[in-house]
Amino acid sequence: MTDQPEKIPQHKHCRNCGKAFTGDGLFCGEDCRGSAGSEAKKKIRKLFLVWLLIVGVTIAAAAVYYMAQ
Ligand SMILES: [Zn+2]
Repeated sequence: MTDQPEKIPQHKHCRNCGKAFTGDGLFCGEDCRGSAGSEAKKKIRKLFLVWLLIVGVTIAAAAVYYMAQ
């Protein structure tokens, strides 16, 4: 018995679509890298808007409280 067990090439799963691929990086291709990047940007933008809303409401509440004195 000299047969060696067939080696399974080391592979990763794409962070965006979950497809198995070989090579460097976190994504299977440029398309997934691009769409994942824009998704992350959208998320950051949304978080920033929520933060802005909280700050705005806090300032408005403080202004109302101050004026009511
Ligand atoms: Zn992918």
